[in-house]
Amino acid sequence: MMALKLIKIIFFFLIITVITQVGGIIYFCTLFFDSSIKKYSAGKRIFYKTGIFLSLYLVATFTIIPILAEKNGRVPLPVNFGNLKPLTIWTCLLNRHYVKPELKILLEEVSESMNGQYPGTGISYLDANFPFFNGFPLLPHLSHEDGKKLDLAFYYYDDETGKGLDYKAPSPIGYGGFEGPKKGEQNMPEICQRKGFWQYGILGEIIPNWVFSSMKFDEKRTKKLIIELSRRKEIKKIFIEPHLRTRLGLNTGKVRFHGCHAVRHDDHIHIEI
Ligand SMILES: [Zn+2]
Repeated sequence: MMALKLIKIIFFFLIITVITQVGGIIYFCTLFFDSSIKKYSAGKRIFYKTGIFLSLYLVATFTIIPILAEKNGRVPLPVNFGNLKPLTIWTCLLNRHYVKPELKILLEEVSESMNGQYPGTGISYLDANFPFFNGFPLLPHLSHEDGKKLDLAFYYYDDETGKGLDYKAPSPIGYGGFEGPKKGEQNMPEICQRKGFWQYGILGEIIPNWVFSSMKFDEKRTKKLIIELSRRKEIKKIFIEPHLRTRLGLNTGKVRFHGCHAVRHDDHIHIEI
C-alpha cells in the first residue's frame, strides 16, 4: 500500500515537472498538509489536496517564481499586456513563457513596430523556456533550455471579410495547424517522413485543429514579422519550413532549415538570440 502510494507520488512529480518544471516541487509542498486532512473521507481528501495544490501553484506562478527567475537571468513574457501576448494562457499557467530579458525587450519593440504598421496587430507567442536551469529542456522542444529560444505564431486572416485575425491560429496551442507545401513546392515533411523521421509531422496527428474554414495564412504580415526579426542583430537564427521560406521570398541567411530531427515549422516561427 505504502509502495503504491510512493509510486503514485513519484509518477505525478515526474509528469508535472516535465510539463511545468516547478509543479513537482509545489506538489511536494502539498504533502505537508496530508496529516491535517487525514480525518476526511477519500473523496474530500482529493478535493482539498487539489485545492491546496492549485492555490500554492497559482500563488507561486504569479508571485514567487518570476522574482526567483529574474535572479536566474530569465523574465516572464507578458500575460496580457500591450501587443505581445500568449496565443493561449496555458503557456503562462504552465510556466513555459520565460526568456532572457534582451529577448523580451526585442519582442516588445518588434510587436510595437508591427502594431504601428498594421493597427491591431501584435505578436502571439507560443512555447518559450522554463524559469530555471540551463540544460532543462522544455519538451518537446529540446533546444528551448537556455532562455534564448522562442516560438511565435503565424498571422492569419478571415477569407470572407479579408480582415486580419489577431492572436488566433488554426490550432488551439499554435502547433499542428500546418500551412503545407503546395504543388511544386519543396516538400520537406514528405522527405523527412521518407527518411524515417516519424516525429516530424507528429503534432498534426495529435493536436486537433479548430474548424475555421475561412482562416487563411497571412503571408504579408508573417513575412513582415520575419523580416523585422531578422534585421535585429540579437537574432541569430529563424526556423521555418523551406517551402515557406521560398514562398515568402525570404533571402536572409538567418532564416534556415532546422533539420529532420526536429518537427515541422510550417505552423510556427522559431527564433533564437
Ligand atoms: Zn522552437
